[in-house]
Amino acid sequence: MAKADLHTHTTASDGFCSPKQLIELAASRSLNSLAITDHDTIQGYLDARPFAEEHQIRLLPGVEVSTRWEGREVHLLGYSFEPDNEPLVQLLRLQRKARRERVKQILDQLRKKGVEITMDEVVAESNGGTIGRPHVAEVLIRKRIVSSFPEAFIRYLGSNILEKLEAGYAEITDVIRVIREAGGATSLAHPGRMYSRNETEGLLELGLDGIECIHPSHHYDQQKQYLELAERENLLITGGSDFHGKHDGYTPYFGIVTLSDSRVNELARMARRRSILLHEE
Ligand code: AMP
Ligand code: MN
Ligand code: MN
Ligand code: MN
Repeated sequence: MAKADLHTHTTASDGFCSPKQLIELAASRSLNSLAITDHDTIQGYLDARPFAEEHQIRLLPGVEVSTRWEGREVHLLGYSFEPDNEPLVQLLRLQRKARRERVKQILDQLRKKGVEITMDEVVAESNGGTIGRPHVAEVLIRKRIVSSFPEAFIRYLGSNILEKLEAGYAEITDVIRVIREAGGATSLAHPGRMYSRNETEGLLELGLDGIECIHPSHHYDQQKQYLELAERENLLITGGSDFHGKHDGYTPYFGIVTLSDSRVNELARMARRRSILLHEE
C-alpha cells in the first residue's frame, strides 16, 4: 500500500537530517508522499524539492506553526499552500522573530539560575535554521551543564520548569486564515499529547480542515477516537512520525507510523480547489 508521512523536521528547524538526507531516507523506507513540516519555516521544503523529484517522492508544501490559543501554545500543521504567498512568507518571518525573542526570555531565566548562555551560542547551534529550545539544549550539553537532551528539558527547558513565556506567536485564527488564503489546508498537530476532548472540539470549531489522527504519541484507542471524530465531522485525516532524526523518541517510527497515501489525495484535492477559487476572485 502506498504510504505517506506528513510530519517531519529537517535542519531548517530542529531536525538533524538535511532536506536531502531526509528525502533519501524517505525513499529508502518506501514512502510515496512526504511533507516536511519544519517549525515556522518552509526552507527545508524548498531545499528538498529537487531531491524529491529525483527520487519520485510526492513532496507537499508543509509547515508546523506555533500559534496562540487562549494563552496556550498550539501547534498547527499547514499543507499544500502556495509557497510564495507573500502574507504567509511574512507571517513565518514574524514567527521566527517571535522565536528569537522567546529564546532570549529563556536565556534570561537560565541566567537567574546561574547558567550563562548567549544568543550567539544558540544561533550558532541552529546553523541558520529556526531556533527553539532544542538548540538551547544542545548548548547546555556542549557546555557540560547537562549530560543529555532529556536532562536539559527535565532540569531547564520543560514547559513545567520555565516561568511563563510571553511568546509573540500569531493567534491561531489568523494562522488558519493566512494558510487558507494561501490556498492551503490546516490540521491540528498531535492532539493526543496536548488537549482534552472538549478542547480538541473547541479548536476544530475555529475552522481547521483536519486533525492529525496518526502520531507516535497516540496510543491505539486515541488514534481510533480521532479517526472517528474526523469521519463524523468530515475532517481531513492527517498523520506522520514527527521525525527529527535524533532525541525525539519518534525517529524509529519514520516509515513505520504512516498515513495511507489516499488521505494525501483528499488533502491535495481540497487545497487545489481552494487555490482555484482564490485565483477566480
Ligand atoms: P520550541 O519549538 O522552542 O517550543 O521547542 C519545542 C521542540 O523541542 C519540540 O518540537 C521538540 O522537538 C522538542 N522537545 C520538546 N519537549 C521535549 C522533551 N521533553 N524532550 C525532547 N525534546 C523535546
Ligand atoms: Mn521539534
Ligand atoms: Mn509539535
Ligand atoms: Mn513536529
